[in-house]
Amino acid sequence: MNILIVYAHPEPRSLNAALKDFAVEHLRQQGHSVQVSDLYAMKFKAVLDADDYLAHPAAERFNPSEASRLALANGTQADDIAAEQAKLQWADAVILQFPLWWFGLPAILKGWVERVYAYGFAYGVGEHSDHHWGDRYGEGRLAGKRAMLMVSMGGWASHYSERGINGPLNDILFPIHHGMLFYPGFEVLPPFAVYRTSRMDSDGFTTACAQLAQRLDGLWTDAPIAFRRQNGGDYAIPALTLRPELAPGESGLSVHLLHD
Ligand code: FAD
Repeated sequence: MNILIVYAHPEPRSLNAALKDFAVEHLRQQGHSVQVSDLYAMKFKAVLDADDYLAHPAAERFNPSEASRLALANGTQADDIAAEQAKLQWADAVILQFPLWWFGLPAILKGWVERVYAYGFAYGVGEHSDHHWGDRYGEGRLAGKRAMLMVSMGGWASHYSERGINGPLNDILFPIHHGMLFYPGFEVLPPFAVYRTSRMDSDGFTTACAQLAQRLDGLWTDAPIAFRRQNGGDYAIPALTLRPELAPGESGLSVHLLHD
C-alpha cells in the first residue's frame, strides 16, 4: 500500500521527528511505500493567496474559490499545490502528523490543507442541487482512502477526557476529522495521540512506538470513526440537518456519529 505522511514540526531532533522516523521505517519494513511531505523542510508556503494561481490577472479582484477552480481545471495551479495533490492521489492512506498547537493544526499544516484542497479536488465536487449537496462527507475525490492523525500534546490524557478542562480530544479534532478528512471522502481512523510530552523518556518512547506500530498495522483493518454520510439519507437536503427521528432530543458534535 502507498502511505503519505504529511508532517509538520520545525525541529528534526524533536519527539515528533523521532516518531515520524519510526513510522516510516516500520511501514517500509511491512512492505509499504511511503512518501513524507516534511512541510518545514520543504519550506512549504503556508498562506493561500493570488500567487497560488499562476494565470490569475493581477488587476482582477481575487476570489480564492473561483481562482482555485479555474487553476485546477486549466492546470495553472502553483507547482507545489499540484505536487501535493498528486501525492494524495497516489496514497491509499494519509497520515497528518503534528504537535497540537493552540488546540489545532500548526499554521503550516493548516495552510497545506487550504492550498492543496482545491475547488474541484476536495470541495465543489459532484452534483449540487436541492437533492444532492455535492459529493462530500463520506463521498468525494478522496473516497476509498484512509486517513489518521498522529498528534502530540503537552496536556495530560485526563485533560482531554470526557470531563477534562480542555474538552474531549475527539471534539477538539472534530473539525479536522470531519471537516478536513471525512468531507473529501476519507475514512477516518481514530487518532494516535501522545499526551504529556514533557514527561517523555526512553521508556515512554519505547511504549509509544509499540502503540504506534499497532496502529500502523491496523491502518487497513481498524474500524473508522462512524460518521454519518451526508447523502446516506440521515440528513434533510438542502437544510442539511439531521432528521429529527435520529438521535432525538440530542445536539452537538456526537449526533453526527452513527449510534450502535
Ligand atoms: P519535544 O519537545 O521535541 O520533546 C518532548 C519530550 O520528549 C522532551 O522531553 C524530549 O527530551 C523527549 N524526546 C524527544 N525525542 C525523544 C526520543 N527519541 N526518545 C525519548 N524521548 C524523546 N499542548 C497542548 O496540550 N495543547 C495545546 O493547545 C498546545 N498548544 C501549543 C502551542 C504552541 C505554539 C506550542 C509551542 C506548544 C503547544 N502545546 C500544546 C504543547 C505541544 O503540543 C507539545 O510541546 C508538543 O506536542 C511536543 O512535541 P515535540 O515533538 O515538540 O516534543
